[in-house]
Amino acid sequence: MTVPLETQVIIIGAGMSGLLAAIRMKQAGVDFVVLEKSLEVGGTWLDNCYPGSGCDVPSHLYSYSFAGNPHWSRLFARQPEILEYFRDQANRFRLRPHLCLGVEVASADWDEASTRWTVTSADGNRWRAPALIVATGQLNRPRTPDLPGRESFAGAQIHTARWHADAPIAGKRVGVIGTGASAIQVVPEVAREAGHLTVFQRSPHWIIPRMDAPISPAMKRLFASVPLLRKAFRALIWRRLEATHPAIAEPGGVKAREMEKMALDYLAATIADPALRQALTPDFPIGCKRTLVSDDYYPALASDNVTLETRAIDRIEPGGVRLADGALAELDTIIWATGFETHGFVAPIAINGPAGSLAQAWANGARAYRGTTVAGFPNLFLLYGPNTNLGHNSIIFMVERQMEYALPAILKVARGEARRIAIRPEAQQAYNRTLQARLATTSWAAGCGSWYKTDNGVMPNNWAGNTAEFARMMKRFDAEAYEIA
Ligand code: NAP
Repeated sequence: MTVPLETQVIIIGAGMSGLLAAIRMKQAGVDFVVLEKSLEVGGTWLDNCYPGSGCDVPSHLYSYSFAGNPHWSRLFARQPEILEYFRDQANRFRLRPHLCLGVEVASADWDEASTRWTVTSADGNRWRAPALIVATGQLNRPRTPDLPGRESFAGAQIHTARWHADAPIAGKRVGVIGTGASAIQVVPEVAREAGHLTVFQRSPHWIIPRMDAPISPAMKRLFASVPLLRKAFRALIWRRLEATHPAIAEPGGVKAREMEKMALDYLAATIADPALRQALTPDFPIGCKRTLVSDDYYPALASDNVTLETRAIDRIEPGGVRLADGALAELDTIIWATGFETHGFVAPIAINGPAGSLAQAWANGARAYRGTTVAGFPNLFLLYGPNTNLGHNSIIFMVERQMEYALPAILKVARGEARRIAIRPEAQQAYNRTLQARLATTSWAAGCGSWYKTDNGVMPNNWAGNTAEFARMMKRFDAEAYEIA
């Protein structure tokens, strides 16, 4: 074993959250390292480089509040531009000397005597610090369903979150399995190139128009020269998205009905074939699964070289996908747009606290206090942790609030002003009781399958309120809820 490198703060992950933490540490003047398994920053925006990848939150909002970008090329920038933005922030805030790229963290172990975390990488290097920030995201481990025969497929298989440019698409018989947020972005692009595309749909999702458009050079110049205008535009987008939250909070309510009508009108306007329209009509309340935004998915499905396949998949065979009724969809390439393992959060990193592992503590579902601290795990801070995901607004807004909340505590332990800060178990329990009770009345609980729920009905991913409520809650570090030594 190597001698651990001593620092004040260890950050795991160099995606949107980890970079934010790094910027704040840099500004505070503490010593820190960022350990990142990939060879570049960007997290999900590095991984999800499939054709059509982009963010369904407008870019003037999906960016740091303190690092606005007047040059976004479109309302909804695509992945390359978003990745470039995060790279730029790493350079602009001089984070590069702190980055350890290509370092996969295997474990983090708490030592009570020294009140330090020791983080060990898969190749045996170690770092030691009083404060540990885990910013590994909720959507970083691709999920490929274990359909029988998957390994026997004779063609190429690729997951949207592990794309490579040489995936055989052009002129090929391609199948996309899944119809979620990733699928609806990749399908129109693949449809343009493929000889034939089959989209395997298990459930239709609600889709509203994205209304994307390029931002004109004149507008960009205006945003650059009048920052107040850019900020006002950002605030306007935030407000408009926030106004859709009642569709989640009150399933069947006025906002939910208004959005369902918008989605059904859009479906009717874009899909002429009544049978196809019927197949694309969801049978669960809007918001239950993530509401999707797209201008080009429905038109792509209506293309001559695209088939929407709604028959269940029985198994994968060397020649393609065998359907439940015995028919074979012959394929050269399968694209798995089947989402992520989302309930393990920090997994597969083994985080071992003073009284056991985080995996044990979370055996019945991940739970944290305000998404940020975990009972039994002192000096550990999570960003985009349990119950901080949203269905209606920007995650960057949430993570910035988490960072503001946790910063005083992080700096206290980093600077040795406190040795040990741990959330009281009773505070965490009370917080989660209320949260889960509220989540049970949202549209997420309204009878559909989604990554928001575990098999035992716990909802470990999503925040129950709107973002303004989260901001109010996170305004102050409530030291009274913590044991501080
Ligand atoms: P997802 O929402 O979990 O969708 C997975 C899809 O695969 C679903 O349509 C699901 O069907 C299908 N599926 C899963 N297992 C299957 C099986 N055994 N047989 C047939 N179909 C199966 O995953 P995702 O689309 O990657 O999106 C995940 C999350 O990533 C999103 O909710 C969002 O938070 C984020 N994301 C965001 C953006 C963005 O623009 N900001 C873009 C992409 C992703 P069912 O619906 O029937 O379960």
